[in-house]
Amino acid sequence: MSKLYKYLSLRYPHIDTNQYYDNFDSLRISINNDRCKRMVNILLLLNIIFIIVDLTIYKSMRVKAPSYVYLYYSHIIISLLIILWLVLLNLQENKRFTSLNPKFFYSSFLNLILYWGVFMGLNNAYISGQITGYIVCVLATSVYLYLKPVEAFLTYSSSLIILIVSLVFTVNNENLLYTHIINASIVVILSYIISKINFLNFLKEFIHKKKILQSKQELEKINVKLKEYEKLRTDFFANISHELKTPINVIFCAEQIIDFSLKQNQCNNDNLSKYLKMIKQNSYRLTRLIGNLIDITKIDALNFEVKLINADIIQVVEDITMSVAAFVEDKGISLVFDTEIEEKIIAFDPNQIERVILNLLSNAIKFTDKAGEIFVSIYLKDNNVCISVKDTGIGIPNDMLNSIFDRFIQVDNALPKNHEGSGIGLSLVKSLVEMHKGSINVNSKLGEGSEFIVSLPDTIISNSQQTLNSTNMEDDYIKKINIEFSDIYQ
Ligand code: ADP
Repeated sequence: MSKLYKYLSLRYPHIDTNQYYDNFDSLRISINNDRCKRMVNILLLLNIIFIIVDLTIYKSMRVKAPSYVYLYYSHIIISLLIILWLVLLNLQENKRFTSLNPKFFYSSFLNLILYWGVFMGLNNAYISGQITGYIVCVLATSVYLYLKPVEAFLTYSSSLIILIVSLVFTVNNENLLYTHIINASIVVILSYIISKINFLNFLKEFIHKKKILQSKQELEKINVKLKEYEKLRTDFFANISHELKTPINVIFCAEQIIDFSLKQNQCNNDNLSKYLKMIKQNSYRLTRLIGNLIDITKIDALNFEVKLINADIIQVVEDITMSVAAFVEDKGISLVFDTEIEEKIIAFDPNQIERVILNLLSNAIKFTDKAGEIFVSIYLKDNNVCISVKDTGIGIPNDMLNSIFDRFIQVDNALPKNHEGSGIGLSLVKSLVEMHKGSINVNSKLGEGSEFIVSLPDTIISNSQQTLNSTNMEDDYIKKINIEFSDIYQ
C-alpha cells in the first residue's frame, strides 16, 4: 500500500482507495500505456516525414542555418528512441521480457516528450515560440496521462529545472529570462493541478464503476436466492399438500371402515379402538401442522409474542422430558435426563420452551433406531442456561448442518420412512429460542448421532406476575405430546 493511497484515504475519506488499489493501479498503467502507444506511433510517423523533409527541402539551407542540422539529428534520435521504445514494449507485451515494469513505458514516454520539448525549445532563435511548444507538451501530458500527484510533481518539476538551467545558458536578456522562467513555472503549477484533478476524477469514476458492478453482482446473487426461494416455496406447497392430504385420507378411511363395520355388525372393540386411535393421531398431526403454519405466519408478520415469566427452567425441562419417558422407552430407546443444577429461575415462556424441547425430542426419536439412546442435560455456561438434547441416531451430513434450521429444509437421504415431517419444526424452534434472546446450535456426525444445544440467557424480568400453573399438568402434557409426536408412527 503506497503512501499516496494512505494520504488519499485520509484526505478523501469517502473514497475507498484501499479496497481497489491493485485493480485501480493496473488499470491506470494500462490506460496510460495504451495512450502512449497511440501517441508514439503518430510521433514516429511525423518524425519520418520530418526526416524526409530535412533530407530534401531543408538540406540546402543547412549551411545558412545550423539549427536545421540540430533539427535533423534530433528527428533521427527521437525516431531511434521511439523504435527502441516500441521494441521493448512489444517484448514486454509478448511476455518475453518481463523485467521492465509496465509503468516504465508511459513514464519514459512522458519524460522523452518533456525533455524533447525542452531541447527543441532551446534550439531556435525564437525561444519564446519554442517555449510555447514546451508549455503545450506539459499541459497536454497533464490532461492526457493519469499520473499520481507525486509522479506528476517529480516529472514536471525536473523538466522545469532542466528548462531553467538551459535558459540561463542560452538567453542573454535578463528580463526575457525571468519572463520565461515565470511563464514556465506557472505552466508547471497549472499542469500539476490539472493532472491532480484528472487523477482524482479518474479514481472516483473507477470506484463508482466498481460499486455499480458490485451492486449488480449483489443483485444477481439476490436474484439467484429469490429463484431458490421460489423453488423452495413451490416444493413446500407440494409437500404441505401431501402432508395435509395424508392424515385427512387416513381419517376418512378409518371413518369409512368404522361405518362399514357398524353397518355389517362386524364391529368389535379392538377394531374400533384401532381405527379411533388412527383418527385421533392423524387429527393431532393436522392440528400440529396447521398450528405450526399459523405460528410461522405470525412470526413472519412480527405478530407472535413469547410470554416471559420467571420460573424454574430445570423443573420445566425435567417434567416435559420425564413425561415422554414411557413413550420413548416403548420405542426401545433409552432416555436419560441429567442436570448440573437443581434449580434455576430465569425468564422464559414455559409453553414455548416445552414445545421446543418436545420438538427436539420428537426429532431425536424419529431419527434414532431401536436400542439407541437420547440424553437430555442442562448446564450453565457463560451466563447462559444450556439445554442439550443428544441422540445416537443417524446424524446429519456436514453440508446440511447450517441449513436444517431454514424453513422447509429436510435432509434428502434414504431415511427409513418411520416418520413424516414438513421441515418446519427446527425453523420454528430457532425462532422461538431467538425470541427468548437465546440461540440454538447443532453438532452432528453422520451415522453417530446429533446434539442440539439450546442456550437461554440467565436473566429474570422484574414484572413477572404469572407463576407456573401446576393444575391439569398431566392432561396438558398428554395433549402437547400427542400433538408434537403425532409425526411418529406408533
Ligand atoms: P421435520 O418436520 O421434517 O422433522 P425439522 O425442521 O424438525 O423438520 O427438521 C429438519 C430436518 O433436520 C429433518 O427432516 C431431518 O432431516 C433433520 N434432523 C432434525 N433433527 C435431527 C436429528 N436429531 N437427527 C438427524 N436428523 C435430524
